[in-house]
Amino acid sequence: MLADPRIAELVARCGRRAVKTAVLAAQDRVRNGEIPPEEAVPSALASLPPIHEPVINATGVLLHTNLGRAALSPVAIDAITVAAGPTDVEFDLGSGTRARRGRHALAALTEAVPGAEAAHVVNNNAAALALIATALASDKEILISRGELVEIGDGFRLPELLEASGARLREVGTTNRTHVSDYAAAIGDETAFILKVHPSNFRIEGFTAEATIEELAALGPPVVFDIGSGLLRPESALPKEPDAATALSNGADLVTCSGDKLLGGPQAGIILGRAALVDPVRRHPLARAMRTDKVTFAALTATIRGQEQTPTFRHLRVPVSHLHERAHRIAAALPEIRFEVVESSATVGGGGAPGVRIPSVALALPESFATPLRTGNPPVVGRTEHGRLLLDLRTVDDEHDDAVIHALREVDRCT
Ligand SMILES: *Cc1c(COP(=O)(O)O)cnc(C)c1O
Repeated sequence: MLADPRIAELVARCGRRAVKTAVLAAQDRVRNGEIPPEEAVPSALASLPPIHEPVINATGVLLHTNLGRAALSPVAIDAITVAAGPTDVEFDLGSGTRARRGRHALAALTEAVPGAEAAHVVNNNAAALALIATALASDKEILISRGELVEIGDGFRLPELLEASGARLREVGTTNRTHVSDYAAAIGDETAFILKVHPSNFRIEGFTAEATIEELAALGPPVVFDIGSGLLRPESALPKEPDAATALSNGADLVTCSGDKLLGGPQAGIILGRAALVDPVRRHPLARAMRTDKVTFAALTATIRGQEQTPTFRHLRVPVSHLHERAHRIAAALPEIRFEVVESSATVGGGGAPGVRIPSVALALPESFATPLRTGNPPVVGRTEHGRLLLDLRTVDDEHDDAVIHALREVDRCT
């Protein structure tokens, strides 16, 4: 079996030991009569540990954290391939000397957000906040509203992350209402900065109040604004979502955000703002432990330069009429399957635009399709709602429609 060309090719990719284990297990299954001999090779192939399975995201959640958030744009994917080899990530080819690491990405960021004097990139937004707290506030106080003490996901909480840096949190205001006077009353010698956190995964409605960035900027201490989702400029489709350019022009001294949310790039934590604050942050010893990989820098640079072409923005802006056409084309290709084309609501997800519903179109199928589609080839992940499986087309690329048709046909044939 090891001489089978399909298996031999895998030895190069997965290593001889893993492939041999899979082959022996497949042979055992043949001997035990579990599978016929001609199934041995496919069975061995299927049992090898995958690297990552590509998945079709039909959940209607644009940035699904469990599916890896933003899908990269073609230019970002090309940039990753180029950066995979030796590259000038930290080297100036003209002078032949060391250069600022990731300077192409940093230049792209400060070009895209002219209000930012300087930029720094770490491995995610949580790291950006931890580094800022450590460099600017250890043994000092960070003022934060009680309405912004956020749990970001998987049990991780921003207040605990900030305190792990040695900074003390000074909570001000209440859950629903915090006024600029609450911050003003708490400012003292110990204040390192005021932190504003965008409530990116929940909404507080009703009797609410919060201080604006302009009001906070007038108080004196530096204002750090965690905008969460990484819009560099305002986006008309999401009018309530904060963006870096507006935050800085309103008076924030530092802005932090993720690279893999609405920016549509690789996982990264972006810090933008005043050079006098960015410099101590990037020079702090811990910055070295959060250093960004060359591949990430390359993808980030390409993402920022080609902002309008990320799959995230394309999916956000596709007209509903186009989704209808695609749904009916898929339905027409599969007359043997009974499903309905239904109105649906997509969401941004991944900590962005909470409560915003984006009109969409879905194929509604019996719920029994969910598991075979998810474990099929390619895996198609939808969402179940009221006892039905919905395949929401807003988050599926046009070019994957045929793969969806194929996957549905396979499931229909086997059930
Ligand atoms: C998502 C989010 C974070 C965490 O960002 P990561 O890049 O996942 O570390 C922090 N703050 C806010 C407001 C967020 O939305």
